[in-house]
Order: sequence, then structure tokens, then C-alpha cells
Amino acid sequence: MTSISSINADLHCHSVVSDGTLTPEELAQRAHANGVRLWALTDHDELGGQDRARAAAKAIGMEYLTGVEISVTWMGQTIHIVGLGIDAAHMGIVEGLRLTRDGRGNRAKLMAEQLLKAGIPGAYEGALHFAGNHDLISRTHFARFLVEQGVCKDTEHVFKNYLVEDKPGYVPHLWATLDNAVAWIKDAGGVAVIAHPGRYKLNAMQMDELYKHFKDIGGLGIEVITGSHSPNQYQTYGKIAQQYGFMASRGSDFHDPQESYIDLGTLPLLPDHLTPVWSAFQ
Ligand code: AMP
Ligand code: MN
Ligand code: MN
Ligand code: MN
Repeated sequence: MTSISSINADLHCHSVVSDGTLTPEELAQRAHANGVRLWALTDHDELGGQDRARAAAKAIGMEYLTGVEISVTWMGQTIHIVGLGIDAAHMGIVEGLRLTRDGRGNRAKLMAEQLLKAGIPGAYEGALHFAGNHDLISRTHFARFLVEQGVCKDTEHVFKNYLVEDKPGYVPHLWATLDNAVAWIKDAGGVAVIAHPGRYKLNAMQMDELYKHFKDIGGLGIEVITGSHSPNQYQTYGKIAQQYGFMASRGSDFHDPQESYIDLGTLPLLPDHLTPVWSAFQ
């Protein structure tokens, strides 16, 4: 008998509507071809791809959950909160995300100014050229520009030497608050999930505080199986899910066939002993 945990669910990826390179339709096809049964497109701070993603999933007989990945500033760090199963037309989240996106244009211009000082001209226009959605210019688009220019050999190299703290092209930014992001998701009928917990530069005490506060304000899930986690981290965050009483999520964080750590639907399945986040939508 197959358990509910063993469904091939991929609940985290990006399209051209944020910083991915495939369209919602191409992602749906690719997910389905890789055996995904339950899918969510989770563009950064943006719901513009949801109707297309849902329609494409429906057309090929794949279950779909509305999704988003919200940029949040917490304890001076950027963390990401995934929202699943939301009503994409709900005013609170639509307006909240619009405000969250708002600062990106100005931030991009400041990033380009810094890169110019570091001897790299034309970065704003260059990054914009890679952005499928001009409202959502991101560091990923700058990274692709720097690779195109031959400054770095790949985007991994870019995120070690540029666009990060203490390197050229880094501009600190204030995103949404954790409380607001979780409230937008909950008010829109969705489930809030801490994305890729293994990636944050927070110590154990700060992570504990994050889990407790997230739980207090109604956060329900945490990503356990995700593209940027190591097998050791699958164990670590599986234990965290049990310890704090979170449902567990699985998502590739796929952006592009060449750049991404891992393809849609190809990560290990969620372990049987964890409660999958999709049980909230049964
Ligand atoms: P932004 O929201 O503009 O700050 O851009 C964040 C995006 O940059 C993430 O969603 C990733 O797609 C990408 N990114 C950040 N750090 C890395 C990294 N170390 N390697 C690859 N991509 C990264
Ligand atoms: Mn991204
Ligand atoms: Mn993320
Ligand atoms: Mn992501």
C-alpha cells in the first residue's frame, strides 16, 4: 500500500513570471513528464502565473495547489515563506505582494551602480533583459547577466563573489514582515510553510525562535525535502518538523534546466513518518 507521504508532490518552483526560465505551461509539462502528481508553482512575491499553471496542470490531469514564495525580513536576514492553497484573488495577499515587489526596481538600480563601480557597466539593462516580468527583477537576473558577460562561469560562482553581503552588487533590502506574510497567506485560506530552512544564516537559538514565533502566528509547515538540502539536512529538518509539530513539504525549487540543483519531481519522497503538508488539502 502506498502512503500519502509517498505521493510525488513538487510544491516549490519558479517560472518566467519570477526568476525561472520556463513558462508555467513548460513547467507543468516537465513536472508531469517527471512523474509529479501534485504540483505548485511558487513564484517570488507574485501570483501572475497561477491561472496559467492551474490550467496547464488541469489539462494534463495533474493535481494543483496555488502557490507563492514570499520574501521576508526577519532578525535582519532574508527568509522565504511559501504559501500553498491560497485564493490568488484575495485582496490582502494581492496588495501585500504588490507592496513587497515595489522596492525591487530601485534596489536593482542601486545594485547596478555598485557593479558599475566594480567595473561592470550596463547591469540594470542587462538584468532587465533576462527578466520575463519587469516588476520582478531579482538577483537571479543579475546573475545571468554576469554569466553572459563572462564575469563568472556560472550563477553559483556569481552568488559566491557578487550580489551577497560584503561583495559588489549587494544592496540590503527590507522585505515583508514575517507576521504580515503569514497573515496574508492565512487570510487567503492557505497554509504557510518555512522554505529551505537549511539556507538561513541564523544560529540555533534564532532558528528556535523562528519556529516558535512562526507557529504562534499560525504557520503550519516546513520544507524538509528541497533542492538545496543535503541528505543530512533531510534528517535534521524532518526531526524539526516532528519536534515543533509542523507538516512537512517537498519541493525542488527548480528555476532552470541548467542552473537548478535538481529537476522537478526527482528528489527523494517524504519519509512515511512525517505528516505531509498536502494532508491539509485532502
Ligand atoms: P532576490 O529575491 O532578488 O534577492 O533573489 C533571490 C534569488 O536568488 C533566489 O530565489 C535564488 O533564485 C537566487 N539565489 C540566491 N542565492 C543563491 C545561490 N547561492 N545560488 C543560486 N541561486 C541563488
Ligand atoms: Mn529564485
Ligand atoms: Mn527561496
Ligand atoms: Mn524558490
